[in-house]
Amino acid sequence: MTTPQHPFWLNLGFLLNHPVGYSHEFPFDLPQIQIPDDLDLRHFRGLVTVGRTPQGLLVQGTFQADLDLECARCLTTYEHTLHWEMTELYAFRNRSTSESDLVLPKDARIDLQPFIREDALLAVPITPICKPGCKGLCQVCGADLNTTECGHQAQLDKSSPFSALKNLLEK
Ligand SMILES: [Zn+2]
Ligand SMILES: [Zn+2]
Repeated sequence: MTTPQHPFWLNLGFLLNHPVGYSHEFPFDLPQIQIPDDLDLRHFRGLVTVGRTPQGLLVQGTFQADLDLECARCLTTYEHTLHWEMTELYAFRNRSTSESDLVLPKDARIDLQPFIREDALLAVPITPICKPGCKGLCQVCGADLNTTECGHQAQLDKSSPFSALKNLLEK
Protein backbone atom coordinates (compact mmCIF):
# COMPACT_ATOMS: atom_id res chain seq x y z
CA MET A 1 0.00 0.00 0.00
CA THR A 2 3.02 2.26 0.37
CA THR A 3 6.19 2.49 -1.70
CA PRO A 4 9.67 2.93 -0.21
CA GLN A 5 10.35 6.08 -2.25
CA HIS A 6 7.14 7.74 -1.15
CA PRO A 7 6.27 6.07 2.13
CA PHE A 8 3.66 8.65 3.03
CA TRP A 9 1.49 8.23 -0.04
CA LEU A 10 -1.55 6.12 0.76
CA ASN A 11 -3.83 4.52 -1.80
CA LEU A 12 -7.23 4.58 -0.18
CA GLY A 13 -9.41 3.65 -3.14
CA PHE A 14 -10.12 0.15 -1.84
CA LEU A 15 -11.73 1.64 1.27
CA LEU A 16 -14.49 3.09 -0.89
CA ASN A 17 -15.75 -0.45 -1.58
CA HIS A 18 -16.38 -0.97 2.11
CA PRO A 19 -19.33 0.19 4.20
CA VAL A 20 -19.34 3.08 6.67
CA GLY A 21 -17.56 2.03 9.84
CA TYR A 22 -14.91 -0.03 8.06
CA SER A 23 -11.33 0.91 8.86
CA HIS A 24 -7.86 -0.12 7.80
CA GLU A 25 -4.52 0.25 9.58
CA PHE A 26 -1.27 1.34 7.95
CA PRO A 27 1.75 0.67 10.15
CA PHE A 28 5.00 2.59 9.60
CA ASP A 29 8.46 1.55 10.65
CA LEU A 30 11.26 3.40 8.87
CA PRO A 31 14.84 3.27 10.17
CA GLN A 32 15.66 6.59 8.54
CA ILE A 33 13.64 9.12 6.62
CA GLN A 34 14.43 12.57 5.25
CA ILE A 35 11.46 14.84 4.90
CA PRO A 36 12.30 17.60 2.44
CA ASP A 37 14.09 19.76 2.77
CA ASP A 38 15.80 19.46 6.06
CA LEU A 39 14.02 17.20 8.53
CA ASP A 40 16.00 14.03 9.25
CA LEU A 41 14.17 11.51 11.39
CA ARG A 42 15.30 8.13 12.66
CA HIS A 43 13.29 5.20 13.98
CA PHE A 44 10.12 6.59 12.51
CA ARG A 45 7.27 4.48 13.85
CA GLY A 46 3.57 5.11 13.48
CA LEU A 47 0.15 3.72 12.99
CA VAL A 48 -2.37 5.36 10.70
CA THR A 49 -5.97 4.24 10.88
CA VAL A 50 -8.23 5.25 8.01
CA GLY A 51 -11.93 4.84 8.63
CA ARG A 52 -14.86 5.26 6.34
CA THR A 53 -17.45 7.72 7.65
CA PRO A 54 -20.59 9.07 5.94
CA GLN A 55 -18.74 12.35 5.25
CA GLY A 56 -15.43 11.01 4.02
CA LEU A 57 -12.32 9.12 5.04
CA LEU A 58 -11.08 9.88 8.53
CA VAL A 59 -7.30 9.61 8.85
CA GLN A 60 -5.97 9.26 12.38
CA GLY A 61 -2.31 8.71 13.13
CA THR A 62 0.04 8.41 16.07
CA PHE A 63 3.74 8.76 15.40
CA GLN A 64 7.09 8.82 17.06
CA ALA A 65 10.56 9.47 15.71
CA ASP A 66 14.04 10.37 16.90
CA LEU A 67 16.11 13.34 15.85
CA ASP A 68 19.22 15.18 17.02
CA LEU A 69 18.70 18.33 19.07
CA GLU A 70 21.05 20.62 20.94
CA CYS A 71 20.42 20.87 24.67
CA ALA A 72 19.53 24.45 25.58
CA ARG A 73 21.43 24.16 28.88
CA CYS A 74 24.66 22.25 28.15
CA LEU A 75 24.72 22.64 24.31
CA THR A 76 25.35 18.91 23.85
CA THR A 77 23.74 17.25 20.84
CA TYR A 78 21.47 14.47 22.00
CA GLU A 79 18.83 12.17 20.56
CA HIS A 80 15.32 13.34 21.28
CA THR A 81 12.15 11.30 20.73
CA LEU A 82 9.19 13.17 19.29
CA HIS A 83 5.60 12.02 19.78
CA TRP A 84 2.64 13.44 17.91
CA GLU A 85 -0.78 12.65 16.52
CA MET A 86 -2.86 13.72 13.56
CA THR A 87 -6.54 13.67 12.66
CA GLU A 88 -7.77 14.77 9.24
CA LEU A 89 -11.02 14.18 7.40
CA TYR A 90 -10.81 13.84 3.63
CA ALA A 91 -14.34 14.70 2.61
CA PHE A 92 -16.15 13.07 -0.30
CA ARG A 93 -16.54 15.50 -3.15
CA ASN A 94 -20.22 14.80 -3.66
CA ARG A 95 -21.16 15.80 -0.12
CA SER A 96 -21.56 19.36 1.01
CA THR A 97 -18.01 20.41 1.74
CA SER A 98 -16.95 23.64 3.32
CA GLU A 99 -13.98 25.65 2.13
CA SER A 100 -11.78 24.44 4.93
CA ASP A 101 -12.35 20.75 4.30
CA LEU A 102 -9.76 18.56 2.72
CA VAL A 103 -11.32 16.84 -0.23
CA LEU A 104 -10.48 13.26 -1.13
CA PRO A 105 -8.87 13.33 -4.60
CA LYS A 106 -10.56 11.43 -7.41
CA ASP A 107 -7.88 8.73 -7.39
CA ALA A 108 -8.16 8.45 -3.57
CA ARG A 109 -4.39 8.80 -3.21
CA ILE A 110 -3.31 11.05 -0.38
CA ASP A 111 0.10 12.29 0.74
CA LEU A 112 0.61 12.46 4.49
CA GLN A 113 4.07 13.98 4.21
CA PRO A 114 3.05 17.64 4.61
CA PHE A 115 1.18 16.77 7.81
CA ILE A 116 4.04 14.66 9.11
CA ARG A 117 6.50 17.45 8.50
CA GLU A 118 4.37 20.14 10.09
CA ASP A 119 3.33 18.09 13.12
CA ALA A 120 6.82 16.73 13.75
CA LEU A 121 8.24 20.26 13.71
CA LEU A 122 5.51 21.40 16.11
CA ALA A 123 6.46 18.55 18.45
CA VAL A 124 10.05 19.78 18.70
CA PRO A 125 10.43 21.47 22.09
CA ILE A 126 11.28 25.18 22.08
CA THR A 127 13.75 24.56 24.89
CA PRO A 128 15.21 21.10 24.41
CA ILE A 129 16.80 19.60 27.53
CA CYS A 130 19.07 16.55 27.09
CA LYS A 131 17.94 14.87 30.31
CA PRO A 132 15.92 15.77 33.41
CA GLY A 133 18.14 17.70 35.77
CA CYS A 134 20.77 18.68 33.19
CA LYS A 135 23.12 20.97 35.10
CA GLY A 136 24.09 23.08 32.09
CA LEU A 137 27.31 25.01 31.65
CA CYS A 138 29.29 26.88 34.30
CA GLN A 139 28.61 30.58 33.94
CA VAL A 140 32.22 31.36 34.83
CA CYS A 141 34.37 28.93 32.84
CA GLY A 142 31.86 27.28 30.51
CA ALA A 143 32.58 23.74 31.73
CA ASP A 144 29.83 21.16 31.30
CA LEU A 145 28.64 20.73 34.87
CA ASN A 146 27.23 17.29 34.06
CA THR A 147 30.74 15.96 33.62
CA THR A 148 32.97 18.50 35.43
CA GLU A 149 33.19 19.86 38.95
CA CYS A 150 34.98 23.16 38.33
CA GLY A 151 33.99 24.53 41.73
CA HIS A 152 32.73 27.87 40.44
CA GLN A 153 29.13 26.99 41.13
CA ALA A 154 29.66 26.70 44.90
CA GLN A 155 31.40 30.10 44.92
CA LEU A 156 28.63 31.67 42.88
CA ASP A 157 25.98 30.32 45.23
CA LYS A 158 27.70 31.89 48.23
CA SER A 159 28.33 35.29 46.69
CA SER A 160 25.10 35.61 44.76
CA PRO A 161 22.72 38.27 46.04
CA PHE A 162 19.98 35.77 45.42
CA SER A 163 21.45 33.15 47.71
CA ALA A 164 19.97 34.85 50.77
CA LEU A 165 16.58 34.86 49.10
CA LYS A 166 17.04 31.27 48.03
CA ASN A 167 17.82 30.27 51.61
CA LEU A 168 14.68 32.01 52.77
CA LEU A 169 12.57 30.26 50.16
CA GLU A 170 13.97 26.89 51.07
CA LYS A 171 13.02 27.28 54.72
ZN1 LIG B 1 22.01 19.19 28.68
ZN1 LIG C 1 33.48 26.88 36.20
